[in-house]
Amino acid sequence: MSMSMSASMSTEKYVYFFAVGQAEGNAGMRELLGGKGANLAEMANLGIPVPPGFTITTEVCRYYHEHGGGYPPGLRDQVNENLRRLEQATGKGFGDPERPLLVSVRSGAAVSMPGMMDTVLNVGLTRTTLNGLIELTGNPRFAWDAYRRLVQMFGNVVLGIERERFDAVLERRKRDKGVKFDVELDAHDLRGIVEEFKQIYRECGVEFPEDPQEQLWMAIEAVFNSWNAPRAVAYREIHRITGALGTAVNVQAMVFGNLGERSATGVAFTRDPATGEKRFFGEYLPNAQGEDVVAGIRTPQPLERLREEMPEIYAELGEIFAKLERHYRDMQDVEFTIEEGKLYVLQTRTGERTAPAAIRIAVDLVDEGLITKEEALLRVKPQVLDQLLHPAFDPKERPGPVAKGIAASPGAAAGRVVFTADEAVAQAERGERVILVRKETSPDDIRGMEAAQGILTSRGGLTSHAAVVARGRGKPCIVGCEDIVIDYERKEFRVDGRVVREGDYISIDGSTGEVMLGDVPMVDSEILRVLRGELAPEESEIYRYFARFMEWADEARRLGVRANADTPQEARLARLLGAEGIGLARTEHMFFGPERLPLFQGLIISEDRAERERYLWKLAEVQKEDFKGLLREMAGLPVIIRLLDPPLHEFLPKSDEELERLAADFGIEPEKLRERVRALEEVNPMLGHRGVRLGITHPEIYAMQVEAILRAALELAEEGVEAKPEIMIPLVGDVEELKFVKREIDRVAADVLRDKKVEYKVGTMIEVPRACLVADEIAKEAEFFSFGTNDLTQMTYGFSRDDAGKFLGAYEEKGVIRESPFHTLDREGVGELMRLAVERGREARPGLSLGICGEHGGEERSVKLCHQLGLDYVSASTFRIPIARLAAAQAAVEERRAAEESRPSS
Ligand code: PEP
Ligand code: MG
Repeated sequence: MSMSMSASMSTEKYVYFFAVGQAEGNAGMRELLGGKGANLAEMANLGIPVPPGFTITTEVCRYYHEHGGGYPPGLRDQVNENLRRLEQATGKGFGDPERPLLVSVRSGAAVSMPGMMDTVLNVGLTRTTLNGLIELTGNPRFAWDAYRRLVQMFGNVVLGIERERFDAVLERRKRDKGVKFDVELDAHDLRGIVEEFKQIYRECGVEFPEDPQEQLWMAIEAVFNSWNAPRAVAYREIHRITGALGTAVNVQAMVFGNLGERSATGVAFTRDPATGEKRFFGEYLPNAQGEDVVAGIRTPQPLERLREEMPEIYAELGEIFAKLERHYRDMQDVEFTIEEGKLYVLQTRTGERTAPAAIRIAVDLVDEGLITKEEALLRVKPQVLDQLLHPAFDPKERPGPVAKGIAASPGAAAGRVVFTADEAVAQAERGERVILVRKETSPDDIRGMEAAQGILTSRGGLTSHAAVVARGRGKPCIVGCEDIVIDYERKEFRVDGRVVREGDYISIDGSTGEVMLGDVPMVDSEILRVLRGELAPEESEIYRYFARFMEWADEARRLGVRANADTPQEARLARLLGAEGIGLARTEHMFFGPERLPLFQGLIISEDRAERERYLWKLAEVQKEDFKGLLREMAGLPVIIRLLDPPLHEFLPKSDEELERLAADFGIEPEKLRERVRALEEVNPMLGHRGVRLGITHPEIYAMQVEAILRAALELAEEGVEAKPEIMIPLVGDVEELKFVKREIDRVAADVLRDKKVEYKVGTMIEVPRACLVADEIAKEAEFFSFGTNDLTQMTYGFSRDDAGKFLGAYEEKGVIRESPFHTLDREGVGELMRLAVERGREARPGLSLGICGEHGGEERSVKLCHQLGLDYVSASTFRIPIARLAAAQAAVEERRAAEESRPSS
């Protein structure tokens, strides 16, 4: 250890300095320095012009919260030491009345939480240093405005005085003066405003601190406290960010975008975050400071304007963007400031993007040689793929727009207008579709934005809070729609000479920025239309990107992907979306519907065999047609048809009238029917008379289904269609159950097929915990296993599928479980049972086919677990097939990478 490090031996290092060409941190230190701090350090090392500063680590935040607001020993000294370095780097002094150093104090956690936490700008400005700033800049208006901003932000962020109180003063001053924008206020006006602001402080029983050190430490404390502010907690909940990570604090020399017309502040993406197109995309506000762009209070100008206004700066920005993209190998979201013609980059981070943009950027980056195909696959979150299959407005039904704003997040949404986040949540809970309409959104609106179908704001630009959050969540969004005039009090907005009230339907197109009145009908997504042959692939750019990307996923994955599909239409779509067969056709829905239900009801209330035969024969006929449809669509691919599963009483009449009608239809006494129905009633049907238990008490039902399956296959074979039916028995827990049903199947097969040959398999669901334990015995009888993880989760936890909703929410809220095990597979419990079954099953029958058909088959982490368990395939509901394909590919890539990493290097 070198001598120079001896000082850090007694106290840990809590503060990291950065300046162009020299930084103590780097991008690899996210956990410690937060994303923003790590990136600032990295950029400084890259020679990108960032204003100098220092980062207080996330460790200090954790210490602070664990010690009731205290700091670790030595922190104050380290901050002061870094402040001195900063003074040297800038040639200014903190609190110096002649050359005052001003700093920004910002939060920055390890995981990005856009707009979630607090920032205070211009810290270090006091009545004394204000004079120095006036001298230094020769611009009293600017200096007073900086002071005004500090007093305002400090009051709101640090002392918790409502923002509205300050806003009201500003608005009134502007009104009195007859001006529209802040920039039109002069030094004298601003001075008066500051006085009024300070009066607000006094009304709240506090004083604005005129000591720079006091300002700094209070701001630092506010940032640490903001980690636990309700909106930050809500954001972490929604994004499932867990663990006490804490935020870092970045203290950085201020640069000013509001020093005049040669100054500006802006936000840019290195590619279009909505479509992924390779072009700079952003906006800036001339003569503005800090958060003005992100807050969306004034509508900014597109970046292209900068090319005309300040061509050298535009060119420099272009070079920086290219450098950042090459370095980070991904699209970046960059904040910059121009101070009197000099460019500074304030931060860069990986940009949020829509699903289409995510795919396009990943594919383009591969073509540009910046990343590999494998990396591209890891860049897209599987669950966003679902967005690509969402509907758009039907062009034939689409009315003309009544307003046009900035298209901020693509997609179509229609719903009733609501004006507050709370109302959005309340209405969504009642099952209403809503569009949240606001002047602008803030982090406090996050839950309402989640609940809404789409978001419409009258102010703000492409990088406003509304736009960023909506894109991240895949919600259609329009911002800066100045054609609408919102009146929160009257709960209405005016547009195009009309009044739209809360509860009225509107439709918004986040791809064009158009607002339409009414509930406009939708049509399927472009990708689906290409898949169905309704649109040529050449006409859809997004389809071509999607197709290439999914092809890479298919090359990478080992797991097969099948569909849960019950109708020929679903099967067709599933196949187009990449399904390699059907992993589960639930036959129960085939018994519902006005024609079939009475047949089935007749079957279960029949008195004798002769009567029963009549119904059976008719049902067999319709079932055969059902199966032919499925098998035909999946010609050449396996189709697992599961024999009837739900409890019998689900088919019986629920009301007296229904019962009487049915009794009359069948010509029996209502009382007799009532008795029969009563006999079938159950206390806990989910654990009752269903699945194979039905097959044993009513063998004729399964016999009929098996016959229908085999006849369907026979008839298709005669037509030359390659049908591959696989018969699956539900809810088996004991091998004897399976043996019983198999005997029936063999008997029917002998009867139906005689000398003809049809290839079919017989297998079982594995969804009762006992089946996992005796999987070896079961495997001797079953040619395939399919894990029914819905039931397996129910029975492993003992959580009733029907009732768990009543308490699982509270479990998640109180942190008892991280996530519902019905949503993502419980690795330690259910997963462990599956592992046992895989092991024992394969041992007893090498080559046993293994799959999963519970809802988990379309969920990213569950799919990855299935890969790790060595299953052969997952089966997912139709629209989740692309998710399963990508998750399976990621599982394979991650496995390969882990193996490479653990290989001893030579
Ligand atoms: C299961 O239990 O996981 C399953 C696929 O069957 P069902 O949901 O129909 O009970
Ligand atoms: Mg089941």
